[in-house]
Amino acid sequence: MIKNFLKEVVSRTLDYSGVLDKKINTSLNQNNNWLVLMYHRIITDNKAEDPYQLGMCVNGKNFNQQIKYLKKKFEILTVSEVVHCLKNKKPLPKNVVSITFDDGYKDNLTNAAPILKNHGIHASLYVATDIFKERVFWWDRTIQIFSEARSSEFSIELKDGPQNFKANRSGLESLLLKLWLETEDSKERIIQKLLDENPITTDLTHLYLNKSELKQITEQHFEIGAHTCSHPNLELLKDDEIMLELSESKAYLEKILEENVDGFAYPGGYIRDDSVNLLERAGFKYALTTVSGINRFEQNEFLIKRMGMPNSSISDFKRCLSNILVTTS
Ligand SMILES: [Zn+2]
Repeated sequence: MIKNFLKEVVSRTLDYSGVLDKKINTSLNQNNNWLVLMYHRIITDNKAEDPYQLGMCVNGKNFNQQIKYLKKKFEILTVSEVVHCLKNKKPLPKNVVSITFDDGYKDNLTNAAPILKNHGIHASLYVATDIFKERVFWWDRTIQIFSEARSSEFSIELKDGPQNFKANRSGLESLLLKLWLETEDSKERIIQKLLDENPITTDLTHLYLNKSELKQITEQHFEIGAHTCSHPNLELLKDDEIMLELSESKAYLEKILEENVDGFAYPGGYIRDDSVNLLERAGFKYALTTVSGINRFEQNEFLIKRMGMPNSSISDFKRCLSNILVTTS
């Protein structure tokens, strides 16, 4: 991971020279700027829990530093608090940031919640409800197949023909990108075949929250939104299939939590042109994308931009923030 090492060196050099602070300070203090940060997992052991560094995991120590820094520079509000301001045409405070998590990993409760609690701030979590049916996300199964692999290469039959993938980080990364473009049925078939040929020994169901833990996390600084049931690529589904994913996940969460669920996050950021209509029909009030950028007062609340955060030191975190603030201000 030489690239990460170099990025870290560059970020530290820029940080020590004061360039990053200067860039961030000059872009801040503008009214109605709203930055939404996206996390998935907060881990304790980089090597064991994130062997391929695919950008979904942030170490607890780094997360703590990141939150500490944000608290100094920003007003941290939940997504629903900001959406309430937008809908009611109330001005936002200066330099607003919201913290979000996707999917529903158990470490959000065990590792992230204590840090949020310690800093007295709240976050939003968007849950794909099939985790409550002991279903393991397709990428977690694929990552595990790669990490337990005995062979050096996988030959996989995809929709555009057979392809070989090396059993390393770049092979895994390109397979995951290809799998996003397969229908749910064929993705399941491909992964099942891979599992039959490369059985894994690790039980992955423990990775996710169960129903009582979901209730618990709402008492610990998290508000909950939906993220579909099966976490599909919405672009590949028919209208009635999308409606089912939207309304069933909403109803499922509302039943567990006994309260309204208004927010939604698009799985993988895949959005259809008519997504906003469908979400409104399903009763949602706002939705988050994975499009990077700053949100403004006139923001469409069904196309809220977010940026993924790095698992790196505070210097690199500042570099990411300054990039987004400078390029979109
Ligand atoms: Zn997701």
